[in-house]
Amino acid sequence: MEINKDLIDDTRVAYISMEIGMDSNIPTYSGGLGVLAGDTVRSAADLEIPMVGICLCYSSGYFYQLFNEKGEQKEKEIEWSFFYEFDKVEKPIKMMLEDREIKVSAWLYKMIGQSGHVIPIYLLTTEVEGNEDWMQKLTGSLYDSTSKWNRIAQEMILGIGGVKLLKSLGYENITTYHINEGHGAFSTIELYKNLGEDLYKVKERVAFTTHTPVPAGHDRFGKDLVDKVFVDRFPKKLLELGTENGELNMTLLAMNCSRYINAVAQKHGETTREMFPNYEIDAITNGIHLPFWVSKPIQRIFDRKWPNWKSKPDVLSNAIEIDDLELFDAHIENKFNLISYQKGHSWNLLDEELITIGFARRFATYKRAILIFHNLDRLGKMCKGEVQFIFAGKAHPKDQAGKDYIKKIFEAGEYLYDNYGVKVVLMENYNMDLAHMLVSGVDVWLNCPERYREASGTSGMKAALNGVLNFSVLDGWWIEGFRKQPDAGWAIGKFPEDYAENETLNDWERDAKEIYDILENEIIPTYMNHDEWLYKCKNAISLAAYFNTHRMVKEYAQKGYNLKKQKPWKYISE
Ligand SMILES: *Cc1c(COP(=O)(O)O)cnc(C)c1O
Repeated sequence: MEINKDLIDDTRVAYISMEIGMDSNIPTYSGGLGVLAGDTVRSAADLEIPMVGICLCYSSGYFYQLFNEKGEQKEKEIEWSFFYEFDKVEKPIKMMLEDREIKVSAWLYKMIGQSGHVIPIYLLTTEVEGNEDWMQKLTGSLYDSTSKWNRIAQEMILGIGGVKLLKSLGYENITTYHINEGHGAFSTIELYKNLGEDLYKVKERVAFTTHTPVPAGHDRFGKDLVDKVFVDRFPKKLLELGTENGELNMTLLAMNCSRYINAVAQKHGETTREMFPNYEIDAITNGIHLPFWVSKPIQRIFDRKWPNWKSKPDVLSNAIEIDDLELFDAHIENKFNLISYQKGHSWNLLDEELITIGFARRFATYKRAILIFHNLDRLGKMCKGEVQFIFAGKAHPKDQAGKDYIKKIFEAGEYLYDNYGVKVVLMENYNMDLAHMLVSGVDVWLNCPERYREASGTSGMKAALNGVLNFSVLDGWWIEGFRKQPDAGWAIGKFPEDYAENETLNDWERDAKEIYDILENEIIPTYMNHDEWLYKCKNAISLAAYFNTHRMVKEYAQKGYNLKKQKPWKYISE
């Protein structure tokens, strides 16, 4: 293991996350949570935050997605050769599951920042010699949905295994365990044990970020299951603190064991405080790692204009100074790149001339991917010869409703093409590589979730950075983005405070009509006016000055980690 002793001794923050999207082809993420975690570690490395990451190593990943000719999602196991990319930790730790001892080892990935600072990420695995077959399979796939049992076992490995591993590797100076979403909350059990069963001491060392704005989204486990897997090893006090209505609630457990709790956008903070009125809950609005998400043509503009923009993203607030023609050329290059890729991957060929609207994210039903197809004839008439659509996203293998949405997009596309010649393309296997192309290559980025269910949403930030205009419901980050810069895109519906107490928040008929009205009266006419469109694109780029993970990680460092900026490390705890 060549992580040197000094780096280990310097490390103050352990970042624990079920998903960390380190690279598009390393299947340790399924969606926004993992991509955010990856961007967090990327920025932390650039900022030389003394951090170590903990995640699981999923030997068959999430899944590779295909569509058949009927628009049905087919899932294929991913095979990936992580052992070529990573170093193995030599000495496994041992932990208990039911009445069995399991060995947990890890693969090491190094995230390297712009100045060379290294953040080690340990990807825990039970594929260890000496483990029985069923044990080896425990870390097989991300969000293995075969059973709740497997899920709780994975979360025990992440939380308990993670803390044990760090200890065994000599990370003795960690002052903050940052639990990123409830999955990692079992780490508090191991800390409780290590700290003499002193809850106060545990709290001193834990920061927790929640990402789920609806109660049903929080991870819960029944009492019987908890008793079965923990036997009598779950400290009574913690079990009490985490239990609600007879079930263990991972969010509650994490909250009760944290000194600092935050939500991931300002509105999400409000929603979370309403859900948990007895807790002090801060909000740190998410960001994206700009150097990772910027497209090459746009980066060339930034590099020429603001050579230090990567370390000082604030300069992007001057984006209005960008030359129109340069920006236009850069965008066209991105659009051609996307469309030529698309032509190689789909029978229905997009047209470079048309306004291209993109929608890509997990096909969870609350994201309402099919809202825009509510009235196909109205949509077809206005889009004919003007607008085309490109979609991508995975539905969770167990989410039949999400899969049905994919089918409906296929069917809507056939109808629109047959009747109006309007093209709707659905790309397979959404991942970070495809996301790079989509968020820079489309003209408009559509997002229409049910109101206040989008904790933050980050794909719209990636679009804005690349001069692509957001066309989105005012939820998550866009409430803040659109307030800062109303010329950076369009809002579907009103600001939260403008809805009357008894007004329906989500009404498909009304929301679809709002989409059509804006598309017809604003987006299509504005596209014809180059100057006005480019003015908006520049305003969109200026949002990146704020919506980036450098700003976000600095907020975490100060408020969540209590790190101070000083030498010999850039950041250090008191
Ligand atoms: C950015 C990104 C997401 C997040 O999308 P949102 O719906 O905007 O939160 C999901 N998946 C991938 C592959 C991404 O790159």
